[in-house]
Amino acid sequence: MITCPNCKNTLPDWATTCQFCQTNVQNVPRPRGAGPTDPDDVRPHGGKLPDKTIWSIYYSICALWILTGAANIWDAFRTGSSSGPNFIGYLFLAFGVFQALIGIGLFLRVEAIRGLVNVVSFLLILRGLFSLANSLLLMMALGAWGLILVVMSLVMIIVGGATMWILSETMGHAPNT
Ligand SMILES: [Zn+2]
Repeated sequence: MITCPNCKNTLPDWATTCQFCQTNVQNVPRPRGAGPTDPDDVRPHGGKLPDKTIWSIYYSICALWILTGAANIWDAFRTGSSSGPNFIGYLFLAFGVFQALIGIGLFLRVEAIRGLVNVVSFLLILRGLFSLANSLLLMMALGAWGLILVVMSLVMIIVGGATMWILSETMGHAPNT
């Protein structure tokens, strides 16, 4: 932490301008190293990856939420009969729509949904595990189709886990500052 020389507010080590009064704080001494360095080298929260990489991953994960949401919507119709989705189908359909909305919310960086996203990520991992068990059982009957479902399930599990991780890495932090 550093202290703004103008307004005396506490700022993160990596700040270059004060977020409260816009004073340039580049020359304020900070605990580690001397002054802010190359933006690529700024590592808030002690993370191991530079900012740019974190945000590329963040937006890739947003896209994956929307994609897996769409895949779930499609899966809901596949699960159903010709007359439309059955009960489980509707459940998956609702989850797919919800997932796509979460993806859009993450993309727009709606801070309010962050708490919710952790819960939904956990549900997504469960959904992925369920699909995985299901598709492994059906693999014999479905052949190559079953393999696609296995891959889809694995993607859901990975996206759920990656989302929890990226949220902790980007917590309360603005992009491209
Ligand atoms: Zn200030």
